Amino acid sequence: MKPTHPASEPIYPDRHPTSRPTWIDVDLDALRRNAQRLRAKAQRPLIAMVKADAYGVGMLPVARALGASFAASKSNASGDAHAETTATPSHADGLLWGLGVATLDEAATLRHEGCTARIICTSPLRAYDLPEAFSLDVRPSLHRADDIVHWAAIGGGPWHLSIDTGMSRAGIRWDQTATLADALARHAPEGIFTHFHSAELADGSREEQDQRFADALASVRDAVTSNTLLHSDNSAGIAARSVLAAPDRHLARPGIGLYGSNVTHALSLEQIVHVRARIIDIRDVLDGESASYGATWHAHGTRRIATVALGYADGYRRALSNRGEAIVHGYRVPVAGTVTMDMTMLDVTALGDRCQIGDVATFIGQDGDDCLWTDDVAAKADISPYELLVGLRLRAHRRYFASDLSL
Ligand SMILES: *Cc1c(COP(=O)(O)O)cnc(C)c1O
Repeated sequence: MKPTHPASEPIYPDRHPTSRPTWIDVDLDALRRNAQRLRAKAQRPLIAMVKADAYGVGMLPVARALGASFAASKSNASGDAHAETTATPSHADGLLWGLGVATLDEAATLRHEGCTARIICTSPLRAYDLPEAFSLDVRPSLHRADDIVHWAAIGGGPWHLSIDTGMSRAGIRWDQTATLADALARHAPEGIFTHFHSAELADGSREEQDQRFADALASVRDAVTSNTLLHSDNSAGIAARSVLAAPDRHLARPGIGLYGSNVTHALSLEQIVHVRARIIDIRDVLDGESASYGATWHAHGTRRIATVALGYADGYRRALSNRGEAIVHGYRVPVAGTVTMDMTMLDVTALGDRCQIGDVATFIGQDGDDCLWTDDVAAKADISPYELLVGLRLRAHRRYFASDLSL
Protein backbone atom coordinates (compact mmCIF):
# COMPACT_ATOMS: atom_id res chain seq x y z
CA MET A 1 0.00 0.00 0.00
CA LYS A 2 1.43 3.34 -0.99
CA PRO A 3 1.12 6.08 1.57
CA THR A 4 1.05 8.75 -1.08
CA HIS A 5 -2.70 8.63 -1.27
CA PRO A 6 -3.97 10.42 1.79
CA ALA A 7 -7.27 8.57 1.86
CA SER A 8 -5.87 5.03 1.96
CA GLU A 9 -6.18 3.05 5.18
CA PRO A 10 -3.20 2.72 7.49
CA ILE A 11 -2.36 -0.62 9.10
CA TYR A 12 -2.41 0.90 12.53
CA PRO A 13 -2.98 4.47 13.47
CA ASP A 14 -0.74 5.88 16.16
CA ARG A 15 -3.78 7.12 18.03
CA HIS A 16 -7.45 7.18 17.39
CA PRO A 17 -8.02 9.55 14.56
CA THR A 18 -8.88 12.96 15.87
CA SER A 19 -11.21 15.40 14.27
CA ARG A 20 -8.19 17.51 13.44
CA PRO A 21 -7.12 16.78 9.87
CA THR A 22 -3.38 16.73 10.51
CA TRP A 23 -1.33 13.58 10.22
CA ILE A 24 1.98 11.97 9.38
CA ASP A 25 2.08 8.96 7.06
CA VAL A 26 4.95 6.59 7.79
CA ASP A 27 5.93 4.14 5.05
CA LEU A 28 7.31 1.10 6.88
CA ASP A 29 8.10 -0.73 3.64
CA ALA A 30 10.41 2.12 2.65
CA LEU A 31 11.92 2.05 6.14
CA ARG A 32 12.75 -1.63 5.67
CA ARG A 33 14.26 -0.97 2.27
CA ASN A 34 16.39 1.78 3.79
CA ALA A 35 17.58 -0.64 6.46
CA GLN A 36 18.44 -3.22 3.82
CA ARG A 37 20.40 -0.65 1.82
CA LEU A 38 22.33 0.43 4.90
CA ARG A 39 22.93 -3.23 5.79
CA ALA A 40 24.17 -3.97 2.27
CA LYS A 41 26.53 -0.98 2.24
CA ALA A 42 27.80 -1.61 5.76
CA GLN A 43 28.13 -5.37 5.16
CA ARG A 44 27.41 -5.84 8.85
CA PRO A 45 24.25 -6.40 10.89
CA LEU A 46 22.75 -3.25 12.31
CA ILE A 47 22.11 -1.84 15.71
CA ALA A 48 19.08 0.20 14.65
CA MET A 49 19.07 3.40 16.66
CA VAL A 50 15.47 3.89 17.81
CA LYS A 51 16.17 6.51 20.48
CA ALA A 52 13.89 9.54 20.83
CA ASP A 53 10.87 7.58 19.62
CA ALA A 54 12.83 6.48 16.56
CA TYR A 55 13.71 10.09 15.72
CA GLY A 56 10.06 11.06 16.01
CA VAL A 57 8.92 8.35 13.60
CA GLY A 58 7.58 5.96 16.28
CA MET A 59 9.77 3.48 18.15
CA LEU A 60 7.43 0.49 18.36
CA PRO A 61 6.23 0.35 14.74
CA VAL A 62 9.81 0.97 13.59
CA ALA A 63 11.21 -1.82 15.78
CA ARG A 64 8.55 -4.23 14.53
CA ALA A 65 9.03 -3.26 10.90
CA LEU A 66 12.77 -3.83 11.18
CA GLY A 67 12.15 -7.37 12.39
CA ALA A 68 12.97 -6.98 16.07
CA SER A 69 11.49 -9.93 17.95
CA PHE A 70 8.41 -9.42 20.05
CA ALA A 71 6.94 -12.07 22.33
CA ALA A 72 3.52 -13.18 21.23
CA SER A 73 1.96 -12.14 24.49
CA LYS A 74 2.94 -9.15 26.53
CA SER A 75 2.68 -11.04 29.80
CA ASN A 76 5.51 -13.35 28.73
CA ALA A 77 7.88 -10.49 28.57
CA SER A 78 6.98 -8.46 31.60
CA GLY A 79 7.88 -11.13 34.16
CA ASP A 80 11.33 -12.17 33.17
CA ALA A 81 12.91 -10.05 30.52
CA HIS A 82 15.94 -12.31 30.46
CA ALA A 83 14.12 -15.39 29.26
CA GLU A 84 14.76 -15.10 25.55
CA THR A 85 17.02 -12.24 24.87
CA THR A 86 20.44 -13.72 24.56
CA ALA A 87 19.36 -16.11 21.84
CA THR A 88 17.15 -13.63 20.02
CA PRO A 89 17.14 -14.70 16.41
CA SER A 90 17.98 -11.80 14.18
CA HIS A 91 15.91 -10.94 11.20
CA ALA A 92 16.13 -13.85 8.75
CA ASP A 93 18.52 -11.99 6.49
CA GLY A 94 20.72 -10.92 9.35
CA LEU A 95 19.51 -7.36 9.05
CA LEU A 96 19.38 -6.55 12.70
CA TRP A 97 21.64 -7.36 15.61
CA GLY A 98 19.68 -5.25 18.04
CA LEU A 99 18.20 -1.90 18.92
CA GLY A 100 19.91 1.20 20.28
CA VAL A 101 18.28 3.51 22.82
CA ALA A 102 19.45 6.55 24.76
CA THR A 103 17.40 6.10 27.95
CA LEU A 104 16.13 3.28 30.13
CA ASP A 105 12.60 4.60 29.70
CA GLU A 106 12.88 3.88 26.00
CA ALA A 107 14.09 0.36 26.76
CA ALA A 108 11.27 -0.11 29.27
CA THR A 109 8.72 0.85 26.62
CA LEU A 110 10.13 -1.76 24.26
CA ARG A 111 10.22 -4.47 26.94
CA HIS A 112 6.73 -3.61 28.14
CA GLU A 113 5.46 -4.30 24.62
CA GLY A 114 7.17 -7.67 24.67
CA CYS A 115 10.26 -6.78 22.68
CA THR A 116 12.85 -9.51 23.19
CA ALA A 117 15.53 -8.07 20.91
CA ARG A 118 18.93 -7.11 22.21
CA ILE A 119 18.89 -3.52 23.42
CA ILE A 120 21.95 -1.39 23.96
CA CYS A 121 21.79 1.94 25.74
CA THR A 122 24.44 4.11 24.12
CA SER A 123 24.24 7.03 26.57
CA PRO A 124 26.17 6.62 29.82
CA LEU A 125 24.18 5.46 32.82
CA ARG A 126 24.89 6.31 36.44
CA ALA A 127 25.71 3.54 38.91
CA TYR A 128 22.26 3.80 40.45
CA ASP A 129 20.69 3.14 37.02
CA LEU A 130 22.42 -0.19 36.65
CA PRO A 131 19.93 -2.35 38.60
CA GLU A 132 17.16 -1.09 36.34
CA ALA A 133 19.29 -1.70 33.26
CA PHE A 134 19.82 -5.22 34.56
CA SER A 135 16.15 -5.90 35.18
CA LEU A 136 15.33 -4.64 31.68
CA ASP A 137 18.08 -6.78 30.19
CA VAL A 138 19.67 -3.73 28.62
CA ARG A 139 23.29 -3.74 27.57
CA PRO A 140 24.72 -0.61 29.15
CA SER A 141 27.58 1.42 27.71
CA LEU A 142 30.12 1.66 30.49
CA HIS A 143 33.49 3.33 30.75
CA ARG A 144 34.26 3.83 34.46
CA ALA A 145 36.03 1.07 36.37
CA ASP A 146 33.65 1.41 39.36
CA ASP A 147 30.61 0.97 37.15
CA ILE A 148 32.06 -2.07 35.40
CA VAL A 149 32.81 -3.69 38.76
CA HIS A 150 29.36 -2.76 40.04
CA TRP A 151 27.72 -4.20 36.93
CA ALA A 152 29.61 -7.45 37.43
CA ALA A 153 28.68 -7.51 41.13
CA ILE A 154 24.95 -7.29 40.47
CA GLY A 155 25.27 -10.10 37.94
CA GLY A 156 24.97 -7.79 34.98
CA GLY A 157 25.18 -9.49 31.64
CA PRO A 158 26.75 -8.27 28.43
CA TRP A 159 27.86 -4.67 28.26
CA HIS A 160 29.70 -2.45 25.83
CA LEU A 161 32.79 -0.37 26.45
CA SER A 162 32.37 3.17 25.18
CA ILE A 163 35.51 4.89 23.91
CA ASP A 164 35.77 8.61 23.29
CA THR A 165 38.01 9.11 20.27
CA GLY A 166 37.33 12.81 19.80
CA MET A 167 33.64 13.48 20.26
CA SER A 168 34.33 14.53 23.88
CA ARG A 169 30.82 13.51 24.90
CA ALA A 170 30.81 10.07 26.49
CA GLY A 171 33.15 7.16 27.08
CA ILE A 172 36.71 6.81 28.26
CA ARG A 173 39.37 8.76 26.40
CA TRP A 174 41.16 6.56 23.90
CA ASP A 175 44.49 7.32 25.57
CA GLN A 176 43.30 6.32 29.04
CA THR A 177 41.84 2.88 28.39
CA ALA A 178 44.80 1.14 30.02
CA THR A 179 43.43 2.34 33.39
CA LEU A 180 40.52 -0.08 32.93
CA ALA A 181 42.69 -3.18 32.64
CA ASP A 182 41.77 -4.62 36.06
CA ALA A 183 38.05 -4.03 35.65
CA LEU A 184 38.09 -5.49 32.13
CA ALA A 185 39.94 -8.56 33.34
CA ARG A 186 37.13 -9.19 35.81
CA HIS A 187 34.28 -8.60 33.40
CA ALA A 188 35.15 -8.39 29.72
CA PRO A 189 32.81 -6.42 27.48
CA GLU A 190 30.66 -8.00 24.82
CA GLY A 191 31.38 -5.07 22.55
CA ILE A 192 33.58 -2.00 22.24
CA PHE A 193 32.53 1.07 20.31
CA THR A 194 33.22 4.66 19.46
CA HIS A 195 31.22 7.42 17.79
CA PHE A 196 32.25 9.74 14.95
CA HIS A 197 31.76 13.47 15.19
CA SER A 198 31.96 14.37 11.49
CA ALA A 199 31.63 11.20 9.47
CA GLU A 200 29.80 13.13 6.75
CA LEU A 201 32.87 15.29 6.10
CA ALA A 202 35.90 14.15 4.15
CA ASP A 203 38.15 16.04 6.54
CA GLY A 204 40.35 13.21 7.83
CA SER A 205 38.66 13.19 11.23
CA ARG A 206 37.21 9.72 10.71
CA GLU A 207 40.62 8.32 9.94
CA GLU A 208 42.00 10.00 13.05
CA GLN A 209 39.19 8.57 15.18
CA ASP A 210 39.71 5.13 13.62
CA GLN A 211 43.38 5.30 14.55
CA ARG A 212 42.59 6.33 18.12
CA PHE A 213 40.09 3.47 18.35
CA ALA A 214 42.76 1.05 17.15
CA ASP A 215 45.19 2.43 19.73
CA ALA A 216 42.60 2.05 22.47
CA LEU A 217 41.89 -1.55 21.44
CA ALA A 218 45.59 -2.34 21.46
CA SER A 219 45.93 -1.00 24.99
CA VAL A 220 43.15 -3.31 26.28
CA ARG A 221 44.05 -6.24 24.06
CA ASP A 222 43.74 -8.78 26.88
CA ALA A 223 40.02 -8.05 27.06
CA VAL A 224 39.49 -8.23 23.30
CA THR A 225 38.81 -11.60 21.72
CA SER A 226 37.71 -12.56 18.25
CA ASN A 227 34.16 -12.54 19.63
CA THR A 228 34.30 -8.97 20.88
CA LEU A 229 31.85 -6.93 18.82
CA LEU A 230 33.46 -3.76 17.50
CA HIS A 231 31.29 -0.97 16.14
CA SER A 232 31.63 2.66 15.17
CA ASP A 233 29.70 3.66 12.05
CA ASN A 234 26.61 5.85 12.23
CA SER A 235 24.64 6.50 9.04
CA ALA A 236 27.19 8.93 7.66
CA GLY A 237 30.00 6.53 8.53
CA ILE A 238 28.26 3.77 6.59
CA ALA A 239 27.68 6.07 3.64
CA ALA A 240 31.19 7.46 3.63
CA ARG A 241 33.37 4.42 3.33
CA SER A 242 33.81 0.95 2.00
CA VAL A 243 33.88 -1.99 4.34
CA LEU A 244 37.58 -2.39 3.60
CA ALA A 245 38.34 0.87 5.38
CA ALA A 246 37.47 -0.72 8.72
CA PRO A 247 37.46 -4.48 8.23
CA ASP A 248 37.50 -5.23 11.96
CA ARG A 249 34.01 -3.82 12.68
CA HIS A 250 31.20 -6.31 13.33
CA LEU A 251 28.19 -4.05 13.58
CA ALA A 252 27.00 -0.62 12.42
CA ARG A 253 24.69 1.82 14.23
CA PRO A 254 22.59 3.80 11.80
CA GLY A 255 19.83 6.12 12.94
CA ILE A 256 18.88 8.94 10.63
CA GLY A 257 19.55 6.99 7.43
CA LEU A 258 16.84 4.50 8.38
CA TYR A 259 14.41 7.38 8.54
CA GLY A 260 15.36 8.60 5.09
CA SER A 261 17.51 11.55 5.87
CA ASN A 262 20.98 13.07 5.97
CA VAL A 263 22.70 10.47 3.81
CA THR A 264 19.64 9.86 1.65
CA HIS A 265 21.07 10.69 -1.72
CA ALA A 266 24.42 9.01 -1.12
CA LEU A 267 22.70 5.66 -0.53
CA SER A 268 19.49 6.05 -2.58
CA LEU A 269 17.46 5.96 0.60
CA GLU A 270 13.75 6.72 0.52
CA GLN A 271 11.65 9.35 2.21
CA ILE A 272 9.55 7.55 4.83
CA VAL A 273 7.66 10.38 6.57
CA HIS A 274 4.95 12.37 4.86
CA VAL A 275 3.49 15.29 6.80
CA ARG A 276 0.03 16.24 5.62
CA ALA A 277 -2.89 18.41 6.68
CA ARG A 278 -6.10 19.65 5.17
CA ILE A 279 -7.01 23.15 4.16
CA ILE A 280 -9.54 24.36 6.72
CA ASP A 281 -10.19 27.89 5.47
CA ILE A 282 -9.62 29.93 2.36
CA ARG A 283 -9.93 33.64 1.53
CA ASP A 284 -8.88 36.37 -0.85
CA VAL A 285 -6.40 38.88 0.54
CA LEU A 286 -6.32 42.23 -1.24
CA ASP A 287 -3.34 44.17 -2.53
CA GLY A 288 -1.22 45.46 0.36
CA GLU A 289 -2.99 43.47 3.08
CA SER A 290 -0.98 41.21 5.34
CA ALA A 291 -1.23 37.64 6.60
CA SER A 292 -0.32 36.08 9.95
CA TYR A 293 1.54 37.31 13.05
CA GLY A 294 3.95 40.13 12.66
CA ALA A 295 2.50 40.96 9.23
CA THR A 296 5.70 39.72 7.58
CA TRP A 297 3.84 38.84 4.36
CA HIS A 298 1.89 41.27 2.17
CA ALA A 299 -0.24 40.63 -0.87
CA HIS A 300 0.91 42.01 -4.18
CA GLY A 301 -2.36 42.18 -6.03
CA THR A 302 -5.23 40.00 -4.86
CA ARG A 303 -3.95 36.66 -3.53
CA ARG A 304 -5.82 33.53 -2.51
CA ILE A 305 -4.71 32.35 0.90
CA ALA A 306 -5.47 28.86 2.20
CA THR A 307 -5.23 28.11 5.91
CA VAL A 308 -3.94 24.62 6.72
CA ALA A 309 -4.34 22.73 10.03
CA LEU A 310 -0.63 22.38 10.68
CA GLY A 311 1.57 24.50 12.90
CA TYR A 312 4.73 24.46 14.92
CA ALA A 313 2.94 22.52 17.65
CA ASP A 314 2.86 19.70 15.10
CA GLY A 315 6.58 20.04 14.41
CA TYR A 316 6.30 22.19 11.31
CA ARG A 317 8.93 24.66 12.37
CA ARG A 318 8.31 28.36 12.73
CA ALA A 319 11.59 28.95 10.92
CA LEU A 320 9.73 27.88 7.76
CA SER A 321 7.68 31.09 7.87
CA ASN A 322 7.77 32.68 4.39
CA ARG A 323 10.26 29.99 3.35
CA GLY A 324 8.52 26.63 3.36
CA GLU A 325 6.51 25.08 0.58
CA ALA A 326 3.70 22.57 0.35
CA ILE A 327 2.43 20.35 -2.43
CA VAL A 328 -1.27 20.79 -3.23
CA HIS A 329 -2.82 19.01 -6.22
CA GLY A 330 0.69 18.25 -7.44
CA TYR A 331 1.83 21.91 -7.40
CA ARG A 332 4.27 23.54 -5.04
CA VAL A 333 2.85 26.55 -3.26
CA PRO A 334 4.69 28.83 -0.82
CA VAL A 335 4.06 29.37 2.87
CA ALA A 336 2.65 32.89 3.30
CA GLY A 337 3.61 34.63 6.52
CA THR A 338 4.53 33.27 9.91
CA VAL A 339 3.87 29.63 10.77
CA THR A 340 1.59 29.77 13.82
CA MET A 341 1.12 27.19 16.55
CA ASP A 342 -1.86 25.46 14.97
CA MET A 343 -2.19 26.84 11.44
CA THR A 344 -0.07 27.78 8.46
CA MET A 345 -1.14 29.84 5.47
CA LEU A 346 -0.31 28.99 1.87
CA ASP A 347 -0.50 31.27 -1.15
CA VAL A 348 -2.57 29.10 -3.50
CA THR A 349 -3.36 31.83 -6.02
CA ALA A 350 -1.75 29.81 -8.81
CA LEU A 351 -4.24 26.98 -8.26
CA GLY A 352 -7.31 29.18 -8.68
CA ASP A 353 -10.62 27.49 -7.95
CA ARG A 354 -9.06 24.03 -7.98
CA CYS A 355 -8.00 24.58 -4.40
CA GLN A 356 -10.83 24.17 -1.90
CA ILE A 357 -11.43 23.70 1.80
CA GLY A 358 -10.81 20.03 2.60
CA ASP A 359 -7.95 19.62 0.14
CA VAL A 360 -4.76 18.00 1.39
CA ALA A 361 -1.43 19.82 1.53
CA THR A 362 1.84 17.89 1.97
CA PHE A 363 4.55 19.86 3.80
CA ILE A 364 7.20 17.17 4.10
CA GLY A 365 7.39 14.07 1.93
CA GLN A 366 5.83 12.82 -1.23
CA ASP A 367 2.63 13.67 -3.04
CA GLY A 368 2.28 12.23 -6.50
CA ASP A 369 5.60 12.57 -8.31
CA ASP A 370 6.92 15.42 -6.23
CA CYS A 371 8.76 15.12 -2.92
CA LEU A 372 9.70 17.66 -0.29
CA TRP A 373 12.67 15.81 1.21
CA THR A 374 13.21 16.05 4.95
CA ASP A 375 16.74 17.25 4.28
CA ASP A 376 15.63 20.06 1.99
CA VAL A 377 12.89 21.22 4.34
CA ALA A 378 15.37 21.21 7.22
CA ALA A 379 17.89 23.17 5.16
CA LYS A 380 15.23 25.79 4.43
CA ALA A 381 14.60 26.09 8.16
CA ASP A 382 18.34 26.29 8.91
CA ILE A 383 18.05 23.33 11.26
CA SER A 384 19.38 19.81 11.15
CA PRO A 385 17.16 17.07 9.70
CA TYR A 386 17.49 15.36 13.09
CA GLU A 387 15.77 18.27 14.80
CA LEU A 388 13.07 18.45 12.19
CA LEU A 389 12.28 14.73 12.49
CA VAL A 390 12.24 14.50 16.29
CA GLY A 391 9.82 17.44 16.44
CA LEU A 392 7.24 15.56 14.41
CA ARG A 393 6.04 13.58 17.40
CA LEU A 394 4.71 16.69 19.08
CA ARG A 395 1.02 16.53 18.25
CA ALA A 396 0.06 15.24 14.81
CA HIS A 397 -1.01 11.61 14.83
CA ARG A 398 0.94 9.10 12.80
CA ARG A 399 -0.44 6.49 10.44
CA TYR A 400 1.69 3.48 9.57
CA PHE A 401 1.61 1.72 6.24
CA ALA A 402 3.11 -1.64 5.36
CA SER A 403 2.34 -4.21 2.73
CA ASP A 404 2.92 -6.94 5.31
CA LEU A 405 -0.15 -6.64 7.45
CA SER A 406 1.17 -9.10 10.03
CA LEU A 407 3.57 -6.52 11.42
C1 LIG B 1 22.39 8.63 17.61
C2 LIG B 1 23.55 7.74 17.57
C3 LIG B 1 23.83 6.97 16.41
C4 LIG B 1 23.08 7.14 15.12
O1 LIG B 1 23.59 8.25 14.41
P1 LIG B 1 22.97 8.71 13.00
O2 LIG B 1 23.78 9.88 12.61
O3 LIG B 1 21.55 9.07 13.28
O4 LIG B 1 23.07 7.57 12.09
C5 LIG B 1 24.85 6.05 16.50
N1 LIG B 1 25.59 5.90 17.62
C6 LIG B 1 25.38 6.64 18.72
C7 LIG B 1 26.23 6.45 19.92
C8 LIG B 1 24.36 7.59 18.73
O5 LIG B 1 24.17 8.34 19.82
